[in-house]
Amino acid sequence: MVKVIRYGNKRRVTCGVCESFLEYEKEDVKTVQTGMNEYEGEIICPNCREKVRVEG
Ligand SMILES: [Zn+2]
Repeated sequence: MVKVIRYGNKRRVTCGVCESFLEYEKEDVKTVQTGMNEYEGEIICPNCREKVRVEG
């Protein structure tokens, strides 16, 4: 019996500012350059409007 653990590209993260539990998709991630060859992904928390670092 095969079970779907994760549907599609949905991922979850907790906002570090307001501690909301957020579900997002790859398309929601904005990639920002933080160094010479360093990139990080971020999304905007819909609750507090702060940036939340996520996996790119
Ligand atoms: Zn938040």
